[in-house]
Amino acid sequence: MKITTIGIWGGYPNKNEATSSFLIEEEGFRCLVDCGSGVLAAVQNYTELKDLDAAIISHYHPDHIADIGVLQHAAMVGMQLKEWQTPFPIYAHNRDPEMFAALSYKGVTEGKVIEADQPLQLGPFEVAFCETIHPVYCLAMKFTANGKSVVFTADTEWKDDLIEFSRGADLLVCESNLYEKYRGIIKGHLSGKQAGELAERAGAKQLRLTHLPQYGELGEILEAARSSFSGDTEFAEIGAVYEI
Ligand SMILES: [Zn+2]
Repeated sequence: MKITTIGIWGGYPNKNEATSSFLIEEEGFRCLVDCGSGVLAAVQNYTELKDLDAAIISHYHPDHIADIGVLQHAAMVGMQLKEWQTPFPIYAHNRDPEMFAALSYKGVTEGKVIEADQPLQLGPFEVAFCETIHPVYCLAMKFTANGKSVVFTADTEWKDDLIEFSRGADLLVCESNLYEKYRGIIKGHLSGKQAGELAERAGAKQLRLTHLPQYGELGEILEAARSSFSGDTEFAEIGAVYEI
């Protein structure tokens, strides 16, 4: 499977970039993982929009859904041009009924419910979920295909359940929004050291850090992650492709 980094920022995008988002592809099936600010423009560096098969959303904060509206416009234009297979499926939880309802738009996109305890068959992927700890209900995701797996933590503070959920992942894409000094002060996110600890305790093979802050010395976050994980650890880099 192939994972492409679309954006790496938490909260809002840096100049000309996008919030944390990834494109995951297997056997020609392409799924966008989160669709926050800047994502719709950025993803077109790697695929034509009409070649997307699905989108999946971890939670309803703007840095994960801000570009859903323009994705819907693209799907509408695509439908009018008879280039898109519509309705285009957008998978998300329905714990916020109003936000979930808004995923379905004029027959061009359709919200599809995901449940924490129900693995989803999505094209060639089996997708499992784990509720995280965040100010709003949020789901981490594990995509498995052909014996390989990638885990996206989405947004979360430390939760032991994520260790078992990430067990043996070939790639762990972990949020690391916090410098160590903000642990316990800023809620709902992980520090670099905690991301490394999660990778270490889960026995993940590779760690990529995402959902980064716009301030401070980012190198400190990477260093902290490397201090607690002995495996391959880098920032997710915009445009980087991981083949697992
Ligand atoms: Zn976020």
